[in-house]
Amino acid sequence: KENTDYLLSLFRTIPGFPKAGIKFRDYMPLLADAKGLGILLEALNRALPVPADQIDAIAGLEARGFLIGVPLAARLGKGFVAVRKAGKLPPPVEHADYSLEYGTASLEIEEGIIRPGARVLIVDDLIATGGTAHAAKTLIESVGATVCGYSFIMRLDGLDGCDQLGDAPISSLVSMP
Ligand code: 5GP
Repeated sequence: KENTDYLLSLFRTIPGFPKAGIKFRDYMPLLADAKGLGILLEALNRALPVPADQIDAIAGLEARGFLIGVPLAARLGKGFVAVRKAGKLPPPVEHADYSLEYGTASLEIEEGIIRPGARVLIVDDLIATGGTAHAAKTLIESVGATVCGYSFIMRLDGLDGCDQLGDAPISSLVSMP
C-alpha cells in the first residue's frame, strides 16, 4: 500500500496532451526516482501474471514498454523482444494495424525474433483502450507464439482495455481514472 502510494505519487498528469480531451499519465518521474525505480521493478517482478518459469520471452511495446521490459527481462533471466511502431525495424518484419486512444498506428516485430511456440509476456507502461496490447498479441500469435500474460504499470479505469486481451492473465500495479 505504501509502495503503491509512492508509485502513484510519482505519476504526472498532463491534461490536453497529446490531444485535447486526453489526460496523459506520465511515468518518467517514476523512472527518474531511484527509490521509485527500485520499487517499480520489484513490484513488477512480484506481480507477474504467470510464474517466471512459464515465460520464455518478454515483449516490450514502444517506447515506454522498452524501458521496463529490458530490466524486467534481465532480472528474470529472459530475452527481450522489441515491438516497434511501423517503419523502425529493418525488413523482413511482421506487421499489424490497430486503432489507438488517439489515432491509428501499426506495430512490427522482426521476423524470426520470436521462436514459434514461445510463451511471451507483453509489457507496457499503461493500458488504456487495450488496442496497442491487442495488436501486439496479434503479431505474436501470427508467428506461432502465444501470449502467456500481460504486465502493465498503470491501468486506466473505465476504458475496458483488459476485456479485449483474451484469456491470458493481466497484471497492473496501479489504476487511475
Ligand atoms: P491503448 O492502446 O491501450 O489505448 O493505449 C496504450 C498505449 O498508448 C501504450 O503504449 C501507452 O504507452 C500509450 N498511452 C495511451 N495513453 C497514455 C497515457 O495517458 N499515458 C501514457 N504514458 N501512455 C499512454
